[in-house]
Amino acid sequence: MQNAPVKEAILEEIANLIDTGRFTNGPAVEAFEGAFAAYCDVEHCVGVASGLDGLRLALVALGLEPGDEVIVPAQTFVATLEAVTQAGGLPVPVEISRDDYCMDVDAFLSAVGDRTRFVMPVHLYGQVAHMTAIGEVAAAKRLTVVEDACQAHGASRAGYTPGRDHAAAFSFYPGKNLGAFGDAGAVTLTDADAARRVRALREHGQMAKYEHAMEGWTSRLDTIQAIVLEAKLPFLDSWNGERRRAAAHYSEMLAGVGDLQLPNVPADSQPVWHIYVVRTADPSGLAAHLSANGIGTGRHYPFPPHLSPAYAYLGYANGAFPVAEALAREGLSLPMFPGITEAQLAHVVTAIQDFF
Ligand SMILES: *Cc1c(COP(=O)(O)O)cnc(C)c1O
Repeated sequence: MQNAPVKEAILEEIANLIDTGRFTNGPAVEAFEGAFAAYCDVEHCVGVASGLDGLRLALVALGLEPGDEVIVPAQTFVATLEAVTQAGGLPVPVEISRDDYCMDVDAFLSAVGDRTRFVMPVHLYGQVAHMTAIGEVAAAKRLTVVEDACQAHGASRAGYTPGRDHAAAFSFYPGKNLGAFGDAGAVTLTDADAARRVRALREHGQMAKYEHAMEGWTSRLDTIQAIVLEAKLPFLDSWNGERRRAAAHYSEMLAGVGDLQLPNVPADSQPVWHIYVVRTADPSGLAAHLSANGIGTGRHYPFPPHLSPAYAYLGYANGAFPVAEALAREGLSLPMFPGITEAQLAHVVTAIQDFF
């Protein structure tokens, strides 16, 4: 269990916090920001209230103006698009690649137009997008890169780790690879001024107490969550290692079973397996069979944002992004968490073999 090794330390620090009464910001928040910046090997980290807020504040801090277009992948969690629209931008979805389920680089390039100001790659399921190529296109087209790294704490690809370009946002929602005991998030940035603006935006636009340089929000990283996250961060790599072992087990044992398509991992990629998604013609049937065997599964995500009622107004029809839509239709997420045992993995594999 993720929380057992850190429970006592966290309880002690929370007890101290209750005595000092510094319930917003304070040394615990700064300590976690420093530790996470070091972990990501990035200069600046600003704690915020959620992954969504991290993405939104990064866009605003990096100069998004109303109506600016932000290129996003067509299959992602809906928060990627929420961040863009809530910052005042227009999300422009583009097709994903079969190789990594992330933004397709050619589709990205073709979507760049006069109003494009940002690109927001999503490292879906914990696999880093093709950032070398995306970064080159972004630089050539003078676009700012804000990565949605909400599923990719600790992932890398060809030496690139999230946040090396302009900014990356992370979610510490409890189910993420690094999870708080409630909602929390962070933005990493390479530019000191932009980091200062995110710091102001998370707290009513204050550059200094009661000096409101811009309009902001209440979106601080909760101090209690910062305590939790700092205690858990040293374990992140070993928890990611356990996810990798589980993924390796699935990939070895499920190859060639039924009509399953297993996740592809490009040779230069080290995913952190936030989610392990297999594809099959009948994911509901397989899910029902697994459920009857006591195995929980998930669908991440059954409807791509462009086909969700929330974004119907963007005007995309079914068939606009066939690769993204097929992944949504056929994907099934298998049990994946640190501490999953060999016996549990074997049980899942046997039940899947049974089904076919
Ligand atoms: C979890 C997640 C978010 C949003 O994070 P919250 O902390 O829930 O706001 C954004 N994008 C992706 C891809 C996510 O998985």
